[in-house]
Amino acid sequence: MAGRSLETLSFDNTYANLPAPFYAKLNPTPFSTPPFLISFNRAAAELIDLDPAEAARPEFAGVFGGSLLVPGMDPLAMLYSGHQFGTYVPQLGDGRAILLGEVRNDRGGKWDLQLKGAGVTPFSRDGDGRAVLRSTIREYLCSEAMHGLGIPTTRALCIVGSDHQVYREQVETGAIVTRMAPSHVRFGSFEVFYYRKQHEQLKVLADYVIAQHYPHLAAESDKYGRFFTEVVERTATLIAQWQAVGWAHGVMNTDNMSILGITLDYGPFGFIDDYDPGFICNHSDHNGRYAFNQQPYIGLWNLSCLAQALLPLAEKDALKAALDRYTPLCERRYLELMQAKAGLTEAREDDAALIQDLLGLMQQSHADYTNSFRTLGAFSSAEGALNEPLRDGFLDRAAFDAWAQRYAARLRGERSRDEERRSRMNRVNPKYVLRNYLAQTAIEKAQQKDYSEIDRVLVLLQDPYSEQSGMDAYAAAPPNWGKHISVSCSS
Ligand code: AMP
Ligand code: MG
Repeated sequence: MAGRSLETLSFDNTYANLPAPFYAKLNPTPFSTPPFLISFNRAAAELIDLDPAEAARPEFAGVFGGSLLVPGMDPLAMLYSGHQFGTYVPQLGDGRAILLGEVRNDRGGKWDLQLKGAGVTPFSRDGDGRAVLRSTIREYLCSEAMHGLGIPTTRALCIVGSDHQVYREQVETGAIVTRMAPSHVRFGSFEVFYYRKQHEQLKVLADYVIAQHYPHLAAESDKYGRFFTEVVERTATLIAQWQAVGWAHGVMNTDNMSILGITLDYGPFGFIDDYDPGFICNHSDHNGRYAFNQQPYIGLWNLSCLAQALLPLAEKDALKAALDRYTPLCERRYLELMQAKAGLTEAREDDAALIQDLLGLMQQSHADYTNSFRTLGAFSSAEGALNEPLRDGFLDRAAFDAWAQRYAARLRGERSRDEERRSRMNRVNPKYVLRNYLAQTAIEKAQQKDYSEIDRVLVLLQDPYSEQSGMDAYAAAPPNWGKHISVSCSS
């Protein structure tokens, strides 16, 4: 099937039909110079039944560059507030994002089409409403990389660039990434009506989200409590996945937390290279509030903010009971994921200690997180095997040998077969992740108007578990220059 043209996309703008306080309706602001297509993601186009040939039309860069609307679009900026670094900010909202509309596909799916970097809105505060090219590349590549890894996330359709000047620490050019998600509603979308004491709007929003995204709860008498419970479950699972893959979000403010439990708002995120549980990817996060190992706790903190906002709708006890489920669930999911990464199929009492001890050795040796697990897949449980490629990554060889003996015994205990285990482990331990230096290389080339690296990395990361011929260099730990690239929020 060829798919639809831009003009025949099937719009069904449910959010735009909510009451006026939920948004500000306005069109994107065109760049001061003509927009041009930088990268197009066919996989995302398929989600909205869009014919990929449409990307070649000049109108495509117009629509996703903020200078052209097609019938059915009803652009708006969403209202929300949120807790930023622990402090409540009464009004945030889409300061540079514009929701063009919601597209239905022929399979019953629904996708928001949102431009990020499309000009000022009533929620821009002091911002210029723009996104710079480097940050759109990072969001575009990382959201598709997360999807490739099997982690729930917003998606990205394309990047449209411009020569429009944007002022950050230096002069850069503006770009727009088109983001897609079943919904962009955040925890902060609820908080804003709670703190404004607009409880009838709060109810409208909760009913809307339940009807659209949790329809199986709509007829339940305790639907708000049940809804919150499901948000808790999804968030716990999501954060367990982040921890297992070694990814830090960087700005886990409640306005960046999705009500659907998907990864939302890619800013100064980072994949861990050499394993360091205290990894802080956000240059501006001086106290490490959003350090890698704080994420599970911050997930709970953020859910507590959402629970507070739902107090006018749900029983306090139900909300509290749901919150109490978070930590055990997140820990259990994390352990399950780590057992799978270690190739274990049966759960045993001391698995957590076995895995923790491996992580401890990795930390001590500054071993690369992604590559250590990938290499662990080739571990031989045979008596006397040295497992050199893996062993060589550890400074304290005697400590590694002692751990390897325990691990080999553990594998033999469940009659694990090396070959079978290896292929199973390769399906959960990625070979390729979006290391900062890979993104940085794509960015620097793009800043010289060579966009080929973006497409190369995009395709690579959409299939991160397979060996891809000629791409081994992309699995390498960072070179010295790429080890500690600092990424700030100013993007
Ligand atoms: P973020 O940290 O990217 O999630 O953004 C936090 C808030 O600041 C959101 O309300 C954004 O819309 C807003 N914001 C971030 N950058 C800009 C910008 N350049 N112009 C206007 N608003 C912005
Ligand atoms: Mg945000």
